[in-house]
Order: sequence, then C-alpha cells, then structure tokens
Amino acid sequence: MQQASDPIVKDLVLIGGGHSHAIVLRMFGMKPLPGVRITLITEASDTPYSGMLPGHIAGFYTHDECHIDLRSLASFASAQIYIDRVTGLDLTNKKVLCANRPPVAFDLLSIDIGSTPAKISVPGAAEYTIPAKPVAQLLTHWYQLVEQVKQNPQKPICLGIVGGGAGGVELTLSMQSHLQQIFKAAQQPTENLEIHLIHRGAFLMPKYNSWVRHRFKKILNQRKVHLHLQQTVGEIRSHLTSLLIKCKSGLKVECDRIFWVTQASAPEWIEASGLATDPDGFIQVDDRLQSVSHPEIFAAGDIATILNHPRPKAGVFAVRQGKPLFSNLRRTLLGKPLQPYQPQKQYLSLIGTGDESAIAAWGAFGFGSSHQLWRWKDLIDRKFMERFKNLPNMTRRQGDKETRGQEENYQLPITNYQLPIQPSAFSLQPSEMRCAGCGSKVSSSVLERVLQRIKQGQPNYDDRKDIVIGLDVPDDAAVVQVPAGQLMVHTIDYFRSLIDDPFIFGQISANHCLSDIFAMGATPQSALAIATIPYALEAKVEETLYQLLSGALKVLNQAQTPLVGGHTTEGAELSFGLSCNGLVHPDKLLRKGGMRSEQVLILTKGLGTGTLFAAQMRRQAKGSWVDAAIESMLVSNSAAATCLMEHGATACTDITGFGLLGHLAEMIQASFGVAVELKLEAIPVLQGAKETLQKGIFSSLHPENLRAARYIANLDRVSARPNFPLLFDPQTSGGLLAAIPAAQASACVNSLQALGYSQSCIIGSVSHLPIKDNTTKDLRQSFSSPISIKV
Ligand SMILES: Cc1cc2nc3c(=O)[nH]c(=O)nc-3n(C[C@H](O)[C@H](O)[C@H](O)COP(=O)(O)OP(=O)(O)OC[C@H]3O[C@@H](n4cnc5c(N)ncnc54)[C@H](O)[C@@H]3O)c2cc1C
Repeated sequence: MQQASDPIVKDLVLIGGGHSHAIVLRMFGMKPLPGVRITLITEASDTPYSGMLPGHIAGFYTHDECHIDLRSLASFASAQIYIDRVTGLDLTNKKVLCANRPPVAFDLLSIDIGSTPAKISVPGAAEYTIPAKPVAQLLTHWYQLVEQVKQNPQKPICLGIVGGGAGGVELTLSMQSHLQQIFKAAQQPTENLEIHLIHRGAFLMPKYNSWVRHRFKKILNQRKVHLHLQQTVGEIRSHLTSLLIKCKSGLKVECDRIFWVTQASAPEWIEASGLATDPDGFIQVDDRLQSVSHPEIFAAGDIATILNHPRPKAGVFAVRQGKPLFSNLRRTLLGKPLQPYQPQKQYLSLIGTGDESAIAAWGAFGFGSSHQLWRWKDLIDRKFMERFKNLPNMTRRQGDKETRGQEENYQLPITNYQLPIQPSAFSLQPSEMRCAGCGSKVSSSVLERVLQRIKQGQPNYDDRKDIVIGLDVPDDAAVVQVPAGQLMVHTIDYFRSLIDDPFIFGQISANHCLSDIFAMGATPQSALAIATIPYALEAKVEETLYQLLSGALKVLNQAQTPLVGGHTTEGAELSFGLSCNGLVHPDKLLRKGGMRSEQVLILTKGLGTGTLFAAQMRRQAKGSWVDAAIESMLVSNSAAATCLMEHGATACTDITGFGLLGHLAEMIQASFGVAVELKLEAIPVLQGAKETLQKGIFSSLHPENLRAARYIANLDRVSARPNFPLLFDPQTSGGLLAAIPAAQASACVNSLQALGYSQSCIIGSVSHLPIKDNTTKDLRQSFSSPISIKV
C-alpha cells in the first residue's frame, strides 16, 4: 500500500502481469514514487516465465520455480493487486472495465497482457482444443493428462499439436519427454505415446534460420513425432471417444487431446476500445512504448507492436521492454521527456529439446543440441527468476534516496508534482497537517457522488416498510422498525484493510460483520457503514470509497440488507466496518450457551487467515494461499447458519479474532456443565496455513489468544503438535462453530458441503461435565480445563 503519509495524487494502472510488468513492478519497488498509487489488474496471482515453461512441462521445474508470484511482487512495489479479467477500456472516461468488479479509474495506463493462439475461425477448435494460452488453463489440462497417464500407463495415448512455431515444437518435445518418462517408470513401452505435429508452412519454426529448422526437424523425426507439414487444419470434430483433426488436404488425424499453439493473436477488446492497432489487433506503439493514438497509454510485450521496430512475439522482447517501460512510465508521471527504445535486431535464442539439452540460435547461426547449452539456459533462467523470489527489503528512505540520486530535481509530488495533466485544484496538505474531528470527514460532494453511483443497479427496498428512514430520505439518523414479536440483534465490527483491494476488502468486511447476525440465527435488517479512506486528491478518495462501498453492497444486497447510513473520514489507512442489526423470533435465537452433552461440534470453514495474512505482510505467503484464504473469506455464513439450524443446532458462534479456542471457551462458559473433546487433526486448515505456522509466523493477536490454552486439560501432551497454534489463530470472516445433535451431524456436514462450505466437518464432541462446585456458574472457578484435545 501507499505509505500512510503520502496522499494519492495519480493512479497508474497496469493491466496484465506479463514479463514487462513484472520488471516494472520490481523497479517501482526499488524506486517508489510517492503519491502514485499503482494498481495491477491480473487474471491470476502468479504469472509464468515463458523461458522455463517448456522445462516445467518436461518435468524439470516445479510450478513455483517457473512462476512469478504477483501478490508478493505487488506488495514489494506497494501496489494494489486486483485479481480480475479485463474485458474492455472506456477511454473517454479513463476507466478499465473488468469482468467482476466496478470499472477502475486511471490517469496513466500500461498494458502487458501477452497474446493467445489464433483459432476462432477454425470450426470446433474453440470447443475441443487446448490453447497454449492462458498458460494456467494449459497447465490445468496438462496436469490432468499427466495424472491420467500415471494412473493408466498401459493405455496408449495420442496427442495432436497444431502449430509448428518455436512454441509448438518445444511443447511437443517437452510433452513427449515427460510422458515417456512416466511410461518408462511404469515399465510400459514408450510407443504407447503417439504425437502428431501439424503445421501449415513448408518449414517448421519459420522465424528461425534454416540450420535451426532442419536441426529440429531431424530431432522430431528421430523421436518419431509424426510431422504433417503444409497441412492447414480446417475443422476439429469430436469422434466417438476421441477427437478428429480434419485438414483441408483431406488428411484426418484421430487424437485423444489436441493442443493449439498457432500464431499469436490479440484479444478483441483491445481493438474495440478504440486504441490504434495493427491489422492483427495488436496495440501500435512508438519507440517510447506509448500508444500512437492515446499518449496516456503504454503497452509492451506480445500485445504491443513497435511501429518502427516490429519483432517476433517472444518472451525475450517482453523482458527487454520492462526497463524502458518503467523509465517512461516514471518520466510521464514526473513530466519529463520520454526516452526512445530500440529493440535489438539479433538476439540469442536457447531452445530446449526436451531432454535437458538445448539448441542455440543467433541470427543465421545455430549450435547444438548440447547439455552445456541447456545448463547455460538453465543458469540464465534461474537468475532471472531469482530477481522475483528474493526481493530485497527496501525501506522507504532507501527508495527515496535512490530516487533522488537518479532523478534530478525530484521533489515530493504534494508540493511540486509536474504532470502533463495537472490536477485542477491541487492543494493537498501533508497528512500530519490535516484537520481532525469532523474536519476529517470525506467531503459531502464526494459522498453524494459515490452514493449516486452505488445506487445504480441496487435493489429497490420500497417494499421494506420496516425501514422508516434510510439513505433515500436523508436525516440525522436512520429509523427502523422492529416488527411485533421480533427481537433486534445489534452488532458492530471495524478493522484495517488486510488486502490491497478495496472492492474485495468491502466484501470481506461486510461478510465478517454480518456473521454475528447469522450466528445468532437472525436475519439482517439494515446496516450502517463506517469507513476511513486514505488521504488523496478528491477524485481518488471518491474512487476508493466507490470501490469499497460497491464491495460491501454486493454482500449486503445478497443478504437483502439495505445500507441506511454511515460515516466516512479520511485517515492514514483504509479501514471499514458495519454496524448491523438483525431480527429474530425469540424462540429461534441461537446463542453461545446451549451446548449439550452427546452433541458434536461442526466448523464450517478452514482456519488460518491470521497466520496467512501475517505471512503475506512479510511476503512469505504464496499468492495461491492468499487466493484460497480470500475465497474462503468471501463466502457468506448465511446459508450455513440456516443449514445448522435446520439440523438442530442449539448453540453457535462465528470464529473471529479470539480464534477457535477463545470462541469455544466462550461457548463452554455460557453453556455451563459441559466439556469438549476436540479432534485436532480433523480441524480444517486453509491452504498454506500449516506452512506459515511452522515457520513461526503468527498474527500479532496470537500471543494474547494463547491465554485460552489454560482451558485445555491435556495441554502438555498437545502443545507441541504442529496444528496446535491453529487453535489460537484469529480469523477474519471465519466460519461458524455450532453444536449439533450427533444423530444429525453427518447429514448436516453433507448439506453444508453441498452448499459450498467444502471444508466443513465435525471437529469434536460435547460431553457432560460433572460439576464439583455448583455454587458458581463461572467456568474459571468451577472447572479450569473443560477442553481436552484428541490427537
Ligand atoms: C508453449 C509456449 C512456449 C513458449 N516458450 C517461449 C520461450 O521459451 N522463450 C520465449 O522467449 N518465448 C516463449 N514463448 C512466447 C512467450 O510465452 C510470450 O512471448 C511471452 O509470454 C510474452 O510475454 P508478455 O509479457 O507479453 O505476456 P505474458 O507472459 O503472456 O503475460 C501476460 C499476463 O497478462 C495476464 N492477462 C492476459 N489477459 C488479461 C486480461 N484480460 N486481464 C488481466 N490479465 C490478463 C495473463 O494472465 C498473464 O499473466 C512461448 C509461448 C508458448 C505458447
């Protein structure tokens, strides 16, 4: 995130976490530009490094070795990261349109989204073939295939690969190498694998010299790959249990899987947005990597065509463009003249042959294949990846110092921010001079605009007569009516953002806040919001508030809960919370007390958000772990609460800050006369949480939560177990913990899982606690250790 003291004055948005942007982010991490909020919008939280991808498919590199963790990199660059797919651009209003969130505003935009193989025009190709990009999709199919062959190595398999460029050839050799290893290990003939490589041209790898082409053709022939040159695929059909490739010449090839690795194409939304593009739809940029039609937009990598220096679509150029792209983005933000970039004409290609050997190509020359060349390639690739794995620990001061050293006349943008597009009323004061009290409120004009914007597409609550005064009829306070015979349940939560994405944070926070209502068996009635928005220019405050409230409203709308008011201030860090009220019939009220012997305990979500986000702050959590934790936090507890009640729950709570044990202790205390046996190994864990706990990474609240360990009877026996610290891990938007009659338990768990609470399970049982001192109902005085842990 931005440093607390830097008001945000400009939004630099990066679309796609390709090679060039990975370098740009790293360089912004090394040389931050105060006042600039960087936002990376990427489909996935990691991105493959193309140089090692074929080696990964061949089985030489693990997934992590050949992927850049974009969450970690964004955190290093103090950038926001939005995991989403961009679907278009609104260039008039300078907005990026995304598949799953409100439009994202930018002042300066950079696009590095790579390319995808062209196939749309071939009937059946989109339906039946596996494109080489997006790589994540290719890898999902590839892992499935590898697993299938491992499970059934005696079964022959036939693969078709369409496209004989460098990518197609390398993919062919890599897939063959890996699958043949599996056959060998299972003592099956390698002839069980048949591969057909189909290519339109007379020569493979048309962008390479004739020596390289012939060398690869020879290798493919030696390895008994069926080569079909000068064959244009006309149609792909499903044929009984296999697929049929029909070429225009009449050739037919029957395969089990078909991989599509044809020449690069650009997504349609680029051209549709109005950006100047070349005839193939790639963004036309000048020597400064700046769009020739829209100077506020830059592009690099496969998606860009440098008008004066067209080059092949290859990872090597995307990598090389990272540094000049960074320099020119930065120069644009500082109002400095841009610098031209000229890609090299000759470049070295080291192309793997699938057997830990490589062939080198340099202009008209070629060498190999040899193991030495592979080792050299391996060294270069690992060195490149090392730059993203071991990110230096930068302090703000270091960055500024470096910045000042390299950028003449650099001054903090709050006082002298030279931009081509000057903010109209640019009179921000440093945060330490900003007013407190009601002077710290977000201005009424911003609030009004945001409320107007979020109103669009909101449900109409006109029929809700219980909302007497809400946002539609502004007054000093909202007025709601409690229907006769109902009780009002009232709760509040508020906390600092744990992720760099206000839209997702708004959703998580709203889920968390509503959980108290659901845990008590109530239905939410209305909510009041409280938000702190980081210091920024008015337009930036508006965007942050809009994203945040859009997220919260997404959840509130699903819960049919109108937002009836709120309070918004500016401050150092993004924070948000809701005060929610709900309604419940007195007979239906679920409480912490109410656990009975012979019941079992059900937990609906995995534990681990505390340790995972503590690790994320230290850049020690894998992006995929954080993705899974966010996915869990985005799940509402509404349906789970209904399900638990339908299965006879008599006590319930939501797991939040005090961790599982703290909240369980509250339940035991409130239930009086019960003891609990917890099955430690049965407790569901979020992906990666065990690893981060084992590294000794705990939430800052963890030591305080550990006090609840005094309730454990057999503490000595269990405290060294690896999962033990999980019991004290504070949860954000955690699951529900409920006591259910044992007879209903498995049906309840099945229903919860069918509802999408995939990690829900039975984690323990309740028994009767013989009371020694029944003069008091205080747990601490009657029994100090009512929890035993089974390992
Ligand atoms: C099988 C295969 C092997 C290859 N091997 C090599 C090789 O060995 N050496 C080499 O130099 N080149 C190789 N290439 C080519 C290389 O992959 C590309 O040239 C290179 O990846 C381009 O880099 P880039 O930065 O332009 O984009 P990419 O590396 O493709 O990255 C684009 C990023 O943008 C994201 N993205 C895409 N669309 C959107 C969207 N709408 N919204 C949000 N995010 C989006 C993607 O998820 C991805 O993270 C190979 C290609 C293939 C298919």
